[in-house]
Amino acid sequence: MTDESEMSGAPSKRAPKPSPTTIGNHKLAPETLMMGYGFDPSLSEGSLKPPIFLTSTFVFQTAADGKRFFEGITGKRPGGAEGLVYSRFNGPNQEILEDRLTLWEDAEEALAFSSGMSAIATLLMTYVQPGDVVVHSGPLYAATETLIAKILGKFGVKWLDFPSGATRNEIDAAIARGKEQGRVALIYLESPANPTNQLVDVEAVAAARDAAFPGDQRPPIAIDNTFLGPLWAKPLDQGADITVYSLTKYAGGHSDLVAGGLVGSKKYLDPIRMMRNTIGTICDPNTAWMLLRSLETLELRMSRAGENAAKVCEFLRGHEKVEQVGYLGFLEEGSRQADIYRRHCTGAGSTFSLYLKGGEREAFAFLDSLKIAHLAVSLGGTETLASAPAAMTHLSVPDERKQALGITDNLVRISIGVENPDDLIADFENALRAV
Ligand SMILES: *Cc1c(COP(=O)(O)O)cnc(C)c1O
Repeated sequence: MTDESEMSGAPSKRAPKPSPTTIGNHKLAPETLMMGYGFDPSLSEGSLKPPIFLTSTFVFQTAADGKRFFEGITGKRPGGAEGLVYSRFNGPNQEILEDRLTLWEDAEEALAFSSGMSAIATLLMTYVQPGDVVVHSGPLYAATETLIAKILGKFGVKWLDFPSGATRNEIDAAIARGKEQGRVALIYLESPANPTNQLVDVEAVAAARDAAFPGDQRPPIAIDNTFLGPLWAKPLDQGADITVYSLTKYAGGHSDLVAGGLVGSKKYLDPIRMMRNTIGTICDPNTAWMLLRSLETLELRMSRAGENAAKVCEFLRGHEKVEQVGYLGFLEEGSRQADIYRRHCTGAGSTFSLYLKGGEREAFAFLDSLKIAHLAVSLGGTETLASAPAAMTHLSVPDERKQALGITDNLVRISIGVENPDDLIADFENALRAV
């Protein structure tokens, strides 16, 4: 977390009032702190809400201040910048956003980015160099796979993967194979995987990493927590070092912005901040401001969407035209996946896979008959979305791999929103009639 005095631009003269995070011994919850944490109205004309700071650069009070701030920016002096310098490095709206993002996971630091992919790209560029190996769970978000395999591949970075649901032994074996090929620079996870919904055992990955790298030259573990975070899964608690977000999804939550975030300890995020400063992948002030508004209702939105999804899935599961519902709330008792779920998750989310009886014809008939749910890719918005991965997001995946991942023609991906659940069930019931 950066010094709040940065927001004034004149740290010695106008120190902001610190935001309380406790009342006596009572610790305040993130959903309460989202309304004001990290912003002092008295520094902005008493404005209850932070203004949008549309400026490219910030005025220094003295030349000595400018020098000191630059020493922080360039890493000449530890501790980061003491004041705001230039909007490619940071701004008040982005700093408040970053401070608030830390709260959901009790993390030291957060960084905001212009998209989920720019967050992932900046992370990878920070930690890998030619000859290194990235060990990752598979499948990953398609663009992340492209970035690791095709783009970093051009720069001589190698990769290998293990299946998302892998056991400790399988993870050990993957890391050992990685070590044979080069320096393992990063372990990159995504859980649950899309569209298989397989959860990664983060505790097992952390134990395997620690066993394989007993010294302090350990590759960090980063995990894309977009589907369940920050409400239903907090992988930093299971041993991950960095959580990765497409803030476009549940955090933004209204399908009206694109942004990304990284959350974790200062040790792991500081080098990424330096990379971001250099290449300029920070989000803009307007997007940061919209995210501040979104975070105020994050807990409400995600809770309602999660409750709705439970009701809708219960309905779909019993329907005669439905083959299977791939929903984290329906994991088989006693299975390994159910065990990971119990240890890692506090909710089943609101994004799931619906397998209809039949094939593409049935899936398309269903999608074309929806009246409330919109036919669009993406997830985590207030409105319910549905799409056909085999024909859309995963169209370019080779048939063999599609088969292995269960991306069949009868698969419909659904992200449930915050509508009235009975209306959603009526919509799905009607659409199933058309199948
Ligand atoms: C959408 C998404 C991304 C990419 O995020 P953008 O904000 O679109 O760049 C990465 N990972 C997952 C799991 C996603 O769903």
